[in-house]
Amino acid sequence: MEQHYDIIIIGSGPGGYVSAIRCSQLGLKTLCVERCGEDNKPVLGGTCLNVGCIPSKALLDSSHYFQLANSGLESHGIDLKNLSIDVGRMLERKEKIVSGLTKGVESLFKLNKVGSIFGEASIPEKGKVVVEEPSGDKVTLTAENIVIATGSSPILLPFIECEGNKIVTSTGALNFKEVPKRLGIIGAGAIGLELGSVWSRLGSEVVILEALEDFLPSADKAISSEAMKILSSQGLDIKLGAKVHKAEIAFNDVIVNYTDDTGEGEVKVNKLVVAVGRKPQTENILADELDIKVNDQGFIEVDEFCETSLKGIYAIGDVVRGPMLAHKASEEGIMVAENIAGESTEIDYERIPFVIYTHPEIAWAGLTEEQALEKNIDISVGSFPFKASGRALASNETEGFVKIITNAKDDSVVGVHVIGPSAADIVQQGVIAMQLESSAEDLGLIMFSHPSYSEAFHEAALATRGNAIHIGNRKR
Ligand code: NAD
Repeated sequence: MEQHYDIIIIGSGPGGYVSAIRCSQLGLKTLCVERCGEDNKPVLGGTCLNVGCIPSKALLDSSHYFQLANSGLESHGIDLKNLSIDVGRMLERKEKIVSGLTKGVESLFKLNKVGSIFGEASIPEKGKVVVEEPSGDKVTLTAENIVIATGSSPILLPFIECEGNKIVTSTGALNFKEVPKRLGIIGAGAIGLELGSVWSRLGSEVVILEALEDFLPSADKAISSEAMKILSSQGLDIKLGAKVHKAEIAFNDVIVNYTDDTGEGEVKVNKLVVAVGRKPQTENILADELDIKVNDQGFIEVDEFCETSLKGIYAIGDVVRGPMLAHKASEEGIMVAENIAGESTEIDYERIPFVIYTHPEIAWAGLTEEQALEKNIDISVGSFPFKASGRALASNETEGFVKIITNAKDDSVVGVHVIGPSAADIVQQGVIAMQLESSAEDLGLIMFSHPSYSEAFHEAALATRGNAIHIGNRKR
């Protein structure tokens, strides 16, 4: 193995592998280091591909089809009786998708001439990476630049032991061999809501215990209250202000104790998922002598270009500030690659899209109405409900709405919030509009195909100016 590289990237998740490919495209001699997964099996792709975004979306899809078939098709004149779910087959499908994509990263590395090596990497000094291979052998490599893209792992609660398959993190909840009768989830964040949706659709009674009084506190209030209504009507029992302080296995059950404003509460479930956030994986990577700051929560401190305080060492994705999102990590990886290659690339951290893959999807980008008001922006708000959309009516997808917030002074779009069909894709249109500094008038002048869910975005843009066609407009 060659010893010297232009760039060594530690971690092959969506931050690391994307950065590695971009580096190679730009002519940099690149090596990506990845630790081995379970059973010392070398796998590329990181959390997103192996135990995060992709397998959870596979299960969300399977469970959505099951629920549709079970109770969502009568109005179409389709009656399906005595349905059952083969959980084993559902998990096999998920594994096949995961292995296809991780092998895809392997092929992309070959295609782009990115080198890879498996083992635990550490940085003993600037320009040096030591990799301890599964055999125990250590390889010392040198590089002009090093990128740390080692991702995150689930936060565990100190008073709850994740045991066997009864009390699990998100990884375990992707692999239940049968549908739990009663499922408890601690945390009503993206993970809690997505995994809660999967198992609830397949028949679990799901109770979600959330310490905060506010539901989805970083979403626009109109969106979070609509989401609470819709998800509760789907059967998710979301208890807000319920702080869990104990959970113990008792025979076949897990007893979960929490406090809320009425005092002590207890729920008995068959399985419990701890989904209380994730923490950066930065232990044992940086030698103490290196002058790189790591904060109290374990995040590596970097500037806006993801460079650490030590020139030539970068950190991206979940190990640095900002939301723990695959697409944010990938963009940081590309920015670092391009800047190392002498280009001048930056990221607009104000316009990162957020998506929660419930049904309907919940997505947003830019400022919420509350944030815009706090900033004393004179805003104009336009909303359009999917129940007024012909496309949504034709597909029984009438829940939710699109909400666009503009700065009334110059008509620029400052925030886009969607709960409803294809929310992730609709919000992306808002991100493009914000990035290209389009006004709401510009959006109103664009022709949208009919019938499409995107027409709700068009109408919401028109509504900010009192010009929506298919709903009454607020008086100006
Ligand atoms: P989160 O931080 O979004 O939510 C965890 C919740 O757990 C918080 O609301 C917190 O108040 C609650 N909590 C903590 N301790 C508690 C206790 N003792 N009792 C009751 N509630 C408690 O974290 P997450 O949902 O685990 O997600 C982790 C990260 O992964 C996030 O950054 C998230 O953005 C990312 N992620 C994103 C997606 C997506 O974009 N679709 C999907 C999955 C994960």
